[in-house]
Amino acid sequence: MSSNSAKSFVAAIDQGTTSSRCIVFDHGGGIVSVAQKEHRQIFPKPGWVEHDAEEIWANVLDVVHGALQKASLTVHDLAAVGITNQRETTVVWDKATGVPVHNAIVWQDTRTDQLVKELGEQNRFRDKCGLPLATYFSGPKVRWLLDHVDGLRERAERGEVLFGTIDTWLIWKLTGRHVTDVTNASRTMLMNLQTLDWDDELVDAIGVPRAMLPEIRSSAEVYGHATGTLEGVPVASALGDQQAALFGQTCYAPGEGKCTYGTGSFLLVNTGDKPILSQNGLLTTVGYKIGDQPASYALEGAIAVTGALVQWFRDKMGLISSAPEIETLARSVEDNGGAYFVPAFSGLFAPHWRSDARGVIAGLTGYIDKGHIARAVLEATAWQTREVVDAMNADSGVELTTLKVDGGMTANNLLMGFLADVLDVPVVRPIIAETTCLGAAYAAGLAVGYWSDTESLRENWHKAAEWLPSMDPKTRDKGYRKWKKAVERTVGWID
Ligand code: ADP
Repeated sequence: MSSNSAKSFVAAIDQGTTSSRCIVFDHGGGIVSVAQKEHRQIFPKPGWVEHDAEEIWANVLDVVHGALQKASLTVHDLAAVGITNQRETTVVWDKATGVPVHNAIVWQDTRTDQLVKELGEQNRFRDKCGLPLATYFSGPKVRWLLDHVDGLRERAERGEVLFGTIDTWLIWKLTGRHVTDVTNASRTMLMNLQTLDWDDELVDAIGVPRAMLPEIRSSAEVYGHATGTLEGVPVASALGDQQAALFGQTCYAPGEGKCTYGTGSFLLVNTGDKPILSQNGLLTTVGYKIGDQPASYALEGAIAVTGALVQWFRDKMGLISSAPEIETLARSVEDNGGAYFVPAFSGLFAPHWRSDARGVIAGLTGYIDKGHIARAVLEATAWQTREVVDAMNADSGVELTTLKVDGGMTANNLLMGFLADVLDVPVVRPIIAETTCLGAAYAAGLAVGYWSDTESLRENWHKAAEWLPSMDPKTRDKGYRKWKKAVERTVGWID
């Protein structure tokens, strides 16, 4: 046993888009305690989404404290803490005072639309960073801040301000180190996928001073020891949320993949130790890198709006008062009545990458009631997944045979059944559905020797639920055709 054997638990901080969570895990990967807190979504203008990084930090401390308290634990019981985070969300702060210079710009934010167009043809940097030019990624968001916050560029060049994605912000607050991990760095458009370092051409073209960039490290190593609430605990992992879920779902071999259904949805497939460039609108990204071992890469299909549409339906339409109620409403009717809802609220991500797309509800007739719209809302998640799976199959040349799922929306049985139907493959969910936190915990635990290797982690994966396809091919094909027609109607709304 390692020197950490006296420490019985590993904690994971999951700083997500809507909330921050802390989960304490035991050696079997079981959940010991959970604490969670939502933060404000700030919408200054249409298409703009911000978070208050200070509020996020305060909430993270609250949930860490809460999770320890619920389990009657102290920091002395923790072998390590790992971090997983909403990706691409961009923070710039003053190095001396630690005060952010602006609200964080959230991944969904489309304010860099014009800038991204000016930066050139969509695939200009794809060979190097694996990503198309899109508002989604952090690099252009940093550039926007440098262009719009008074004097910021000069301060950045003098090394007085620091850039970080949320992992970096939290590690800096916890340990004082200015670092990021390869998975988060791979979402900036500034990192070279081969060298796993900042790339001069990308950094220059996007216009971000190197002095403000964090050091890129692996996803599982001790970055430093925490001070304050987590006094002395090794901060030992960082993974973007989707990569953490891939890791928590134990997708360690090429061809293994998962889809996480939260605010947005993200299908990632492990492609092994070489990055594969997509011909079909998928992202090439780093899956994880454990210490000195070679990086594992992944192909990713990112869908911007899935659970967020359910939230919109709840909060903006007021037709339900909680997300799970959508299932009851949707079950009040037999089918979608011909209605299709394409939630291109912030453009369309994979496989379309159209920032000029906006949402549509198509196929409306006088027959449609709120139950049909509820169905269309849920079905949108499944059809968007189908588009991504088709792209994944085409890129890899291998047909997906089963889909591992996790995330808040997998609580919806109607949706999961429909998903199996439109993909025509079994959909499976593990007992520990908190795979994002689990992945961060696993990586941190590996870094400090709490777990010995990835093979031992596989033994912790157990199936909790399975949905089998039962839709006839004709119905499926007809539905997919209609969905595609509705998608065609979304483009060209922005001049
Ligand atoms: P994130 O980590 O992105 O914040 P979660 O995994 O916590 O997301 O999932 C929350 C999302 O799932 C919300 O957008 C919510 O609308 C949606 N959601 C939660 N429960 C259900 C449900 N029973 N049916 C449909 N959507 C749901």
